[in-house]
Amino acid sequence: MSPPHILVVGAGAAGYFAAISAAEGLAGNGTVTLCEATAHPLAKVRISGGGRCNVTHACFEPRELKKNYPRGARELHGAFHRFGPADTIAWFERQGVTLKVEPDGRMFPVSDDSETIVSALSTAAQSLNITLRLQSGIRKVEAAPPQGAAPGAGSVMGFRIELVSGEFLHADRLIVATGGLKGSGPSLAEMLGHSIESPVPSLFTFNIDDPRLEGLAGISVEDVVARVDGSKLKQSGPLLITHWGMSGPAVLKLSAWGARDLAACNYRFTLAVNFSPSHVRDTARSSMLAHRGRHPRRQIGGSTPFQLPGRLWAQLVAAAGATESTPWTQVSNDVIARLADQVVDAKFQVTGKSTHKEEFVTCGGVRLNEVDFRTMESRKCTGLYFAGEVLDIDGITGGFNFQAAWTTGWLAGRSAALSALGKADMRG
Ligand SMILES: Cc1cc2nc3c(=O)[nH]c(=O)nc-3n(C[C@H](O)[C@H](O)[C@H](O)COP(=O)(O)OP(=O)(O)OC[C@H]3O[C@@H](n4cnc5c(N)ncnc54)[C@H](O)[C@@H]3O)c2cc1C
Repeated sequence: MSPPHILVVGAGAAGYFAAISAAEGLAGNGTVTLCEATAHPLAKVRISGGGRCNVTHACFEPRELKKNYPRGARELHGAFHRFGPADTIAWFERQGVTLKVEPDGRMFPVSDDSETIVSALSTAAQSLNITLRLQSGIRKVEAAPPQGAAPGAGSVMGFRIELVSGEFLHADRLIVATGGLKGSGPSLAEMLGHSIESPVPSLFTFNIDDPRLEGLAGISVEDVVARVDGSKLKQSGPLLITHWGMSGPAVLKLSAWGARDLAACNYRFTLAVNFSPSHVRDTARSSMLAHRGRHPRRQIGGSTPFQLPGRLWAQLVAAAGATESTPWTQVSNDVIARLADQVVDAKFQVTGKSTHKEEFVTCGGVRLNEVDFRTMESRKCTGLYFAGEVLDIDGITGGFNFQAAWTTGWLAGRSAALSALGKADMRG
């Protein structure tokens, strides 16, 4: 019998990690091929994190870590116990790459250069004799069951794989790691009996054309609560005003948790922002009444009781119908009531979405209940494994998406190797 051959489709973060862990698992008793459709392996790693690559997040408790995944949290819990951020850090350290933690928990290579990560993965793959085939897109896969048996009936002889070029390859185990929206993984998965949660974008910014934001691009508010009016979707965190609307962690998190609902309304909805989350309407009003008593002669536009950027406050004052130069003593209770609304419940019409520094991930993909997360093996087709964004998994920004790619890639590669060698698998 010839030594087993494992084929990985897609040379992104998940595919590379899967190929490396498969080759380590085979320990020379088999071969690994990594097929990439384009001429550019690890393209997203290269441009990730603004060119710095936010490799993972310093969160070492799976129960906490999983809270950063709008989709896949439950399934990833056990997987993170098997391979989590501490394992990622240790793996890169073994390749000579030290990661550092930023105050918000994001982890980057100390070089602040994604090339360090690209180079570590490429060198590891080369030293394990993984065959990298570029411009080798896979267009069709077929499970090749033992004579007389149906696909998925237990033992699989392997897979017959057709490249876009028309060439055929055979693999004993197949790992699909084709990424999100643009990847053709979902159609390959469907060919092997899987169902797909329809893909929609996650992690985007909101387009808002509103006079209150005019001239404020670049201003950030330290902490807001942003919610989609009329729904339960609500997130808190910093908010950034941009040339085209709003961005920042509060908005990006809202876009991730609301990816499906916001797609369903075609990204047109009312956003309600509390710019001073320690206040509700009544307390905001009393703060302003007290402020009026203390500073009667100060002009309202230049004097606020709230921790808000001055220019934003001035715009909210105008939106409440007051003139900036009016002394506080002349500000009526009606204006104060309207201003309280502007501070704690400012409504903005969102008319579309934009990408955040070109970063986006896909909500949707291979349905999670069709995959065994102890091994990443398909429950529909023996010998088939999935890793990375091709699955219906996505995280918020902060290194969580790459961590999901490392975790699922490592598990898929290791389990495929053990299974190909006929060894006990990782379910126990
Ligand atoms: C600009 C940007 C910045 C980002 N920054 C970060 C960050 O700093 N931290 C973070 O955690 N996440 C970040 N992300 C998200 C992260 O990059 C992805 O979640 C991650 O790359 C997913 O890895 P993957 O291997 O599953 O998919 P991908 O990286 O998309 O790789 C899939 C590969 O499969 C190939 N492929 C597709 N179909 C086929 C086929 N039929 N045959 C052969 N090959 C095929 C594709 O060409 C591609 O190379 C960023 C995303 C973007 C777009």
